[in-house]
Amino acid sequence: MNERRINHLKPGFNESGTYILYWMQQSQRVHYNHALLHAIELANQHDLPVVVFFGLTPTYPEANERHYLFMLEGLKDVKTWIEKLGMTFVFRFGSPEESIQPLLQDAAFLVMDYGYLRHQKMWRKHVLDVSKEKYQTLGIDLIDTDLIVPVRVVSDKAEYGAYTLRPKITKMFRDFRDFKTLTVVWNQKILNIPSDHNLIDIKKLVNVLDIDHSVKGSPLYHGGYIEASRLFSMFISEKASDYDLSNDPSKDLTSKMSLYLHFGQISSLELLDRLFLAQAQGQIKGESFDQYVEQLLVRRELAFNYVTYQKGYDQFESMTEPWAYQTMTSHEHDFRPYLYTKEDYISFKTHDPYFNAAMKEMVLTGYMHNYMRMYWAKKIIEWSPNYVYAYEMIKSLNNTYFIDGRDANSYAGIAWCFGKHDRAWTERDIFGKLRYMNAGGLERKFDIQSYVSRMNEYR
Ligand SMILES: Cc1cc2nc3c(=O)[nH]c(=O)nc-3n(C[C@H](O)[C@H](O)[C@H](O)COP(=O)(O)OP(=O)(O)OC[C@H]3O[C@@H](n4cnc5c(N)ncnc54)[C@H](O)[C@@H]3O)c2cc1C
Repeated sequence: MNERRINHLKPGFNESGTYILYWMQQSQRVHYNHALLHAIELANQHDLPVVVFFGLTPTYPEANERHYLFMLEGLKDVKTWIEKLGMTFVFRFGSPEESIQPLLQDAAFLVMDYGYLRHQKMWRKHVLDVSKEKYQTLGIDLIDTDLIVPVRVVSDKAEYGAYTLRPKITKMFRDFRDFKTLTVVWNQKILNIPSDHNLIDIKKLVNVLDIDHSVKGSPLYHGGYIEASRLFSMFISEKASDYDLSNDPSKDLTSKMSLYLHFGQISSLELLDRLFLAQAQGQIKGESFDQYVEQLLVRRELAFNYVTYQKGYDQFESMTEPWAYQTMTSHEHDFRPYLYTKEDYISFKTHDPYFNAAMKEMVLTGYMHNYMRMYWAKKIIEWSPNYVYAYEMIKSLNNTYFIDGRDANSYAGIAWCFGKHDRAWTERDIFGKLRYMNAGGLERKFDIQSYVSRMNEYR
């Protein structure tokens, strides 16, 4: 593993500890998991077993049944794999930074995986603070395993856009194709540490969780590494060679990997390695290959750069550029001919059939094509009484209905609609200099009716 993935947060080793503890929270997988690999290597150095802990909070910001179901489907797989590999899996209810604490006492060393959002950083900091106070000898390493190149390695500042990040990250990413194989743990002692649930009947578990049940699971997309891997293989064999045409929402040529990347159920590095393999085997080439790398490496990691350095990435007042705020201020009193409510949106009752179709994709499946995400958010800006209202509406719908919502990519994607990582365009009503998108563009560029027909099949 590239050493620069590791942040040695706290030196130490608890000599009386009886296991190496891996707190799995962001990277919910066994495959291509550098944090798990690191825990196993430490365990083998000291002939100790590995305990993998996951804490499930029923109050995860903006999460509902759709998200919990997808995540738990993945965790069920993880538990099976961890146990097959001779490690102990501990699943507890409660806020993870609290529910992990009873396991710290007997841990020789703690490995954590990194999460880039504010609350994820706070959870890890809390555990670090507690351990400094109560478990002085416990050593802690924090591992970045969800990005190809960790943000702070590639850049020490907020990047202006893909064009400034691209040259830096393309120079570096080869050094971070660093996952070979998962080492086997030598001490395969399964410890008697109780879990709060056995993760066998996920549907039953979700039904009794004290969570928001208003949004049901997706009938189309199911969680877990195995499903992610199957979908990606299908993408490679059936779609990848035409990926250069995937910007067209009427063609179903995207990989749907965002759903799995969000929960860390598959690693972006694994996707990249498999893409290179597909290229070597002639399954994807030229523009299609370059464009997928651009999305997975440059665009996705730009979003993580954004949430790292833009402190208020999820607040209207602090998410975009000064020129964008200026132009919005100049146009805040422009006449808005259409105004819609959330109820209108989620019952597909606007005057725009393309927007309604996009809302169907979102509400009924939990996913939306990237081009339609842009169009959809731009329309909400156009149909809102003011920009703050629009921002809050977009964020709320995005994070409620998308399986991949509440991601770095969510905040960066939404901010892009308000000018972030974009440039000023010709000034016009309501949008000012923000980029405008209209139905005519969809009709001109794509067979948009066939997108509408496909979405109308969902009930
Ligand atoms: C208003 C708006 C809201 C968005 N909300 C989210 C969100 O909640 N969660 C989320 O993950 N993404 C979001 N995006 C980014 C993007 O739309 C999705 O990542 C993409 O549609 C995922 O589909 P896919 O995996 O099939 O993409 P593919 O085309 O198969 O791309 C492969 C991977 O590349 C990355 N990628 C693709 N397009 C983009 C992009 N435009 N920006 C950054 N990375 C990209 C993703 O990780 C994706 O999984 C949003 C974009 C906009 C404009």
